[in-house]
Amino acid sequence: MTEKAQYIQSGDQPLTILRGVGEKLAAQLARIGIVSCQDLIFHLPFRYEDRTQVCPVYKLQHGQQALILGAVETAHVQFGRRRSLLVRLNDGGARITMRLFYFNAQQQKALEQGQWVQCYGEARLGPNGMEMIHPEYRVHAIEPESITTDVLTPVYPTTDGVGQARMRKLVNQAFEQFAHATQDYLPPSIRQDLQLLSLDDALHTVHAPKAEDDINSLLNGTHPAQKRLALEELLAHHLALRANREERQQNPAPVIKPDGELWQQLQRSLGFTLTDAQQRVVTELEQDLAQASPGLRLVQGDVGSGKTVVAAAAALHAVEAGWQVAIMAPTELLAEQHRRNFLAWCEPLGVNCVWLTGRLAAVKRREATTQITSGEAQIAIGTHALFQDEVEFHKLGLIVVDEQHRFGVGQRLALKKKGEQQGLAPHQIIMSATPIPRSLSMVYYADMDVSNIDELPPGRIPVQTVVLANSRRDEVQQRVRLACQEGRQAYWVCPLIEESDALQAQAAEETAKLLTAQFTELNVGLVHSRMKPKEKDTIMARFRGGEINLLVATTVIEVGVDVPNASLMIIENAERLGLAQLHQLRGRVGRGSSQSVCVLMYQAPLGQKGKKRLDILRQTSDGFEIARHDLEQRGPGELMGTRQTGEQALKIANIVRDQALLLTVEKAVHELDQQDVRIKQKIIERWVKSKDQYAQV
Ligand code: ADP
Ligand code: MG
Repeated sequence: MTEKAQYIQSGDQPLTILRGVGEKLAAQLARIGIVSCQDLIFHLPFRYEDRTQVCPVYKLQHGQQALILGAVETAHVQFGRRRSLLVRLNDGGARITMRLFYFNAQQQKALEQGQWVQCYGEARLGPNGMEMIHPEYRVHAIEPESITTDVLTPVYPTTDGVGQARMRKLVNQAFEQFAHATQDYLPPSIRQDLQLLSLDDALHTVHAPKAEDDINSLLNGTHPAQKRLALEELLAHHLALRANREERQQNPAPVIKPDGELWQQLQRSLGFTLTDAQQRVVTELEQDLAQASPGLRLVQGDVGSGKTVVAAAAALHAVEAGWQVAIMAPTELLAEQHRRNFLAWCEPLGVNCVWLTGRLAAVKRREATTQITSGEAQIAIGTHALFQDEVEFHKLGLIVVDEQHRFGVGQRLALKKKGEQQGLAPHQIIMSATPIPRSLSMVYYADMDVSNIDELPPGRIPVQTVVLANSRRDEVQQRVRLACQEGRQAYWVCPLIEESDALQAQAAEETAKLLTAQFTELNVGLVHSRMKPKEKDTIMARFRGGEINLLVATTVIEVGVDVPNASLMIIENAERLGLAQLHQLRGRVGRGSSQSVCVLMYQAPLGQKGKKRLDILRQTSDGFEIARHDLEQRGPGELMGTRQTGEQALKIANIVRDQALLLTVEKAVHELDQQDVRIKQKIIERWVKSKDQYAQV
């Protein structure tokens, strides 16, 4: 084979080899990670449009994508908040409105009475019945004979300057020229066992479905061709993370194997004994620390399962062995909570803890950094300020990150670099209260070990959860009044009204005013994320001290706050929050010895689905169970804060729908381990743009 032929066979040609692709277009495509012809071939449609049949208007459901055809009855411009052109169509069975906000005189003229219009778009239930807003449409002077296509229309992710039609053409061109060379790397035994389609057939089907292909399964993402590709994609992500892990383990790390004297001392003063689950996880962490390569362990445990003390055990071991520890939290409030715990636990043992956040006054900050650099500071607690450039650790041996799903990739990478300054990579522990179902961790966390604290400390009374419409606010207020009169304390949470801190804060401020006016006999406090840290601290301290009875808050209190006497929590607009988040919030109560109650208020009407969602919280307090529901209903992004951590999105696999494939992934990994390592690399290259896109913690 000539060199050129080999090159072509790999499908790894630069894009410019394609007809009509110059430097400019290549640059545009590169923005979404398409660099080679192989990338184009693996640029998969994320959905299909079904124009294989015309849907009768009377059958349309709200939210349905459909092709319709109707005659124009009326067309007029409506003036209102936004000017729009309303075109009333009748298909002989029912009427539907096509609504255009952007239109010119020519378009308006073309849409006159008696014309036939075909539309493809999403049907919505509008103020005057069914409508389609800005559908793709075409006008016909007479009733057209056939407007349907034989096959589904693939829809690709696009980018500025490269529209749908162009993208479709490019993919097809690359595919026609190079698909013959897309070698199938799945182990033959796996292919045979599962009677999988060949890679080539699978790609053909998803890019260019044929008339005989099953439309419904393609639309649902369950076609064997899609399964075949999803399997390989999941496998690729798993392999990529495993490769990251192997790479990490090449680095040397401090071997931390102290007698454990400090930890023994702390245990004697704690006033409680660890649960079996906590003990087990401490042992796992001890084993990690004793290795000469850096450990990376995710410690999952439901709210209140006692993760902090487990982290303290590891921290004290590191300190005893002469290493520094960084403990990092995503918010000031949570960092503050850790600070209090660690001061109370570690300072009596003679361990020097320093505090560093971005909001610290310059002088104090310099003081802290100096101590960190000199090594005087044994444990540094704070927010992301801990790993800004000016902070240089003397001898960092362990990093503890709390609530990792809230951290961004950049921050985690910076932290990793910190440790490498000394040539030894620190061990890392990531604590998360949002349990990640096993299926997810196999694909997203294959680079780390996972421990579960799957047991709560004894004596906890489960929180009773009540779901009430906003209209019953009076009753709710009565509950608050009673609880506070009995000497207990309450939270009143006003969550997201808009995706904006400012508006959230405003809503909380207004609620606080209202409640202050209503409860003249109570002390009402307010915390939100836009307050000065000093003010926030003061309020929290007064709440902790029992001086404030009712604390109005935004979701800033979601993580970490620990006030055992607070036994009532009201959450407004609960329908807007994810289940896992509600569960976190609810975890702020039920920490003391009295029965706690959580009231989830919602704005009626709440659909069937919404009701069922909130019911799940009423029925269970098992974080895993709740996370599983969240995953099913809102996808992994919601659960893991994917947008923040930057985990790469999957192209065709769907972690929920394709869970059953994970067993096969495991099997395939096993088979591949027996084969040439380059095969694994090939699979990764095809599917995973860049390993760095993963949060390389
Ligand atoms: P989370 O896992 O939500 O971070 P924390 O570490 O804040 O939980 O622990 C919640 C509370 O439970 C704290 O007040 C902590 O001191 C206490 N706690 C932790 N472990 C135990 C235990 N084994 N027995 C009793 N109380 C415990
Ligand atoms: Mg915690």
